[in-house]
Amino acid sequence: MRIDLHVHTAPRSACSYLDPSELVQRAVQLKLDGICLTEHQVVWDPDDVENLAREGGIKIFRGNEYTTNQGDILVFGFYEDLKDLLTIEQLHEKVKSAGGFMIAAHPFRGFKTFGIGQLQMTVEQACKRRVFEFVDAVEIGNGKVSADENDMARKVAEKLGLAGTGGSDAHRADEIGKWVTDFEKDIRDENELVQELHAGRFAAVKAA
Ligand SMILES: [Zn+2]
Ligand SMILES: [Zn+2]
Repeated sequence: MRIDLHVHTAPRSACSYLDPSELVQRAVQLKLDGICLTEHQVVWDPDDVENLAREGGIKIFRGNEYTTNQGDILVFGFYEDLKDLLTIEQLHEKVKSAGGFMIAAHPFRGFKTFGIGQLQMTVEQACKRRVFEFVDAVEIGNGKVSADENDMARKVAEKLGLAGTGGSDAHRADEIGKWVTDFEKDIRDENELVQELHAGRFAAVKAA
């Protein structure tokens, strides 16, 4: 079951140009089985999600992307708006007590542009980033970063024994589905999504 785990829509994500109905139409066109709405700091109202899902006949789940002092974290199974910037420890405590799942989003975004020191970062050095002590998985396929940046994330996840997810990070309709996460089982609701994430029964897949 292929789900785009990382999508931003307008107006809930101020940076997005993607109308939710347009998102659903495009996801259906692409034959995705589901999408996750991961707005910045804001969780969708369940009724709104249900209405949107009914429109398109596609599975729609809620997640979230929270910014921390250790970068952006995709969160599933924890449904609270967080207006303030949290440290990774604070977010981890909240999400863990809710039984949720944390993914380091695009952990090496921009590492190619930080300068020569970062360019020569080895996988071993990259593994030492503190964020990896707190997450359950790593986004190894993000539609908005370079192949090298995704590659580094994949190598780090492999070395640390963390599972890898894929998501487009779409902010526009033509960006949807660039990367998805393929789940082994059929997922009917958010609880099952969190369960399957914890079970590690999935793989990141790049669009052909
Ligand atoms: Zn992000
Ligand atoms: Zn994002």
